[in-house]
Amino acid sequence: MRASTTKSRGPADAVTVLTWHALVGRPEELEAWPPGARLYVFTLDEFRRQLDHLAAEGFTTLSMAELLQWHQGAVELPERPIVLSFDDGHRSNAELALPELRSRGQKAIFFITVSRVEADAWVTWDDLRVLLDAGMEVGSHSLTHRPPSSLSRDELRRELAESKRILEEGLGVAVEFVSSPTGYDSRHFGPLAREAGYKAALQGVIGRNRRSTDPFALRRILLKRSMDSALFRRLVDPSRRAYLPLRLKQATRNAVRRLIGARGYEALRRLLLGQGSGCAEQPPDGSKGSANECQIPDSKSQMPSHRGDHP
Ligand SMILES: [Zn+2]
Repeated sequence: MRASTTKSRGPADAVTVLTWHALVGRPEELEAWPPGARLYVFTLDEFRRQLDHLAAEGFTTLSMAELLQWHQGAVELPERPIVLSFDDGHRSNAELALPELRSRGQKAIFFITVSRVEADAWVTWDDLRVLLDAGMEVGSHSLTHRPPSSLSRDELRRELAESKRILEEGLGVAVEFVSSPTGYDSRHFGPLAREAGYKAALQGVIGRNRRSTDPFALRRILLKRSMDSALFRRLVDPSRRAYLPLRLKQATRNAVRRLIGARGYEALRRLLLGQGSGCAEQPPDGSKGSANECQIPDSKSQMPSHRGDHP
């Protein structure tokens, strides 16, 4: 089928969800991040250009609550809807991303790894209150960020329920949305998120969301710095399906993972990235403390440590 070159007209029928992780104020600060983690870090200037593009192209940022209202048939979408989200709860979300969103009148949801709140480099409870006061949403990104596929159903149930409970008690608001940590989704994640009382869940599958999409397996695009600004523009363009090659790549990667196992896949990936250390792209078991964490060498950054994190 020939791709349309005209802009969409009237209400949209699909919503793209974008996910960022951490930001750095200056490009030199990227050097302090291990290669696997750096893939998911943008500079403030890059982030500004992305937000400016969305504003210039007439995108309306939706909250997850608005996305859900549309999904349930209660409202129509604006012509160019988009959901902006952040995974993990890095301190830069509050310190760098929030002012940029506010100044453009854009909204976002921040999915927080609850066991890290108040820890070095991560958001504080005060940060989360500031985000809420600014009209942003806060969701759960699990309790410890362990890969859902590595957990028993009872462990995953606890990750989902406890993180929700702690956020709700700490913030005094309902926490209705959750995003799956790491690229290792579990088929139990959606059903157990529903059971825990969430209204929708973002998982790792790349794509756009329609009314027919399972609200507990919502799709998204995890932004990586290997995506240049031209690709970013194509990915958010509703008249294109630029995400399809990425989805194919993801499906291939997942098949390899299934074949050689998660540990084998991470070893292979580190080899290909030339990353000699044991710092996995996927954070190791969070309950084991910092033994396997990626430590950033001496840096003037206020965000000195990072767990080699990603989705
Ligand atoms: Zn994450």
